[in-house]
Amino acid sequence: MKWDEFAGWGHKVSDWAQEYHQTIGERPVRAQTQPGDILNALPVNPPDAPEAMEDIFQDFEDIVMPGMTHWQHPRFFAYFPTNATPPSVLAEYLVATLTAQCMLWQTSPAATEMETRVLDWLRQGMGLPDAFSGVIQDSASGATLAAVLTMRERALNWQGNTKGLSAHSAVRVYASNEVHTSIDRAIWIAGIGEDNLVRIPIQGPNRAMDTEALRQAIQADRAAGLQPAGIIACVGGTGVGATDDIAAVAQVAQDEGLYLHVDAAWAGNAMVCPEFRPMWAGVEQADSIVFNPYKWIGGQFDGSVHFVRSPEDLTRTLAISPEYLKTHGQDGIINYSEWSVPLGRRFRALKLWFLIRAYGLDGLRERIRNHVAWSRKLHDKLAATQGFEIVTSPMWSLWSFRLIRKDVDLDALNLRLVNAINNDGRIYLTQTRVDGKLAIRFQCGQFDTTEQDVMMAHDVITEIAERLS
Ligand SMILES: *Cc1c(COP(=O)(O)O)cnc(C)c1O
Repeated sequence: MKWDEFAGWGHKVSDWAQEYHQTIGERPVRAQTQPGDILNALPVNPPDAPEAMEDIFQDFEDIVMPGMTHWQHPRFFAYFPTNATPPSVLAEYLVATLTAQCMLWQTSPAATEMETRVLDWLRQGMGLPDAFSGVIQDSASGATLAAVLTMRERALNWQGNTKGLSAHSAVRVYASNEVHTSIDRAIWIAGIGEDNLVRIPIQGPNRAMDTEALRQAIQADRAAGLQPAGIIACVGGTGVGATDDIAAVAQVAQDEGLYLHVDAAWAGNAMVCPEFRPMWAGVEQADSIVFNPYKWIGGQFDGSVHFVRSPEDLTRTLAISPEYLKTHGQDGIINYSEWSVPLGRRFRALKLWFLIRAYGLDGLRERIRNHVAWSRKLHDKLAATQGFEIVTSPMWSLWSFRLIRKDVDLDALNLRLVNAINNDGRIYLTQTRVDGKLAIRFQCGQFDTTEQDVMMAHDVITEIAERLS
């Protein structure tokens, strides 16, 4: 294709995108295809000759679309949301058009300086002190890896990268069982080893780390000659929204001289609303925080916001400067590739800039508040419905429930229920385990969802549960 044909196709794609979003509610939420359907519809061999754009686009509609699960569907209540907004999608189109490699300041000063400014807007919008600097990482997993590497290097007096880990006593990191699996993987990749990720028991309705047990575990490790390095706390865990008492954990981190990383990948989004901030009181004491604007506030995948108290510690851990990457004659500039594991970087800040300007923080706050209120309304209704039990209470817009019947295996019954609901296609839910029991999660956070969409979940859940008997 030549660029002179591009605008025509661009129009066609944007017409398609608008229509898709306007009629998305008519589609089943979860893809209804069987494993292999799409693979079998795709030719085994690549084409040697160029194909017409018309044919490629037609196959996109005929082959690809039936195999898509619609994350932008207003009745997508599974996992966590992932939102795209019209202005941020347009920004992404521009970013793809420019395809700049924004690894260094000089490889696109606008991308670097925009990132600095927009992340500071988000910092302010979330009520965080100006002691934090922000950087966009590829994912929350990437941000947590960067944090784990930093805590490791700090604990090893900056010797881990040079000497390796065998030269030191075992590095220890502390977290509850409610943290995301990205923490385990960061621990593996950092060479610390799963056995050195110390699991702290939880307590209370928020399923928070027992900070006394945390303190004792650190002290016992130190007495045993091990090397405590850091604590990873969660605010809004993926299973059922577990939230640590950040102030209490931060006090332990401070007393013990440990690094504190806070994973608020989903719930961090809610902090644009001041009324939710007491849930992470003490967060200003953290060394780093990660949240995913792609999840709830609509700056679509990918890109995670990583706030750090000490960019010096982060770059001391990750910066590497061969001659070809040096920027001579420029002082005081930021090269964000020195703040992350990958070298190459897309211009991810542009979509956040479009988004925040087009909605204003108030527009984002209004959506989050509605989602939380509607989710609670549905929770109250199901809690009052016979035959259902609430397993975990709402944490922001996330809670869990299960169907109760006498003399049956409740785990199997609820697995059948969630599968039947997803095969029906009107709504989409996923399950988790809470203290070993199978529970069905509900969360709402899709940007265009309405109160009616949310309350319709009650009709679908009760109707399908009825049919199961
Ligand atoms: C979604 C999520 C992650 C993982 O995010 P990625 O950007 O996919 O790495 C980590 N932690 C929590 C709490 C999450 O909800």
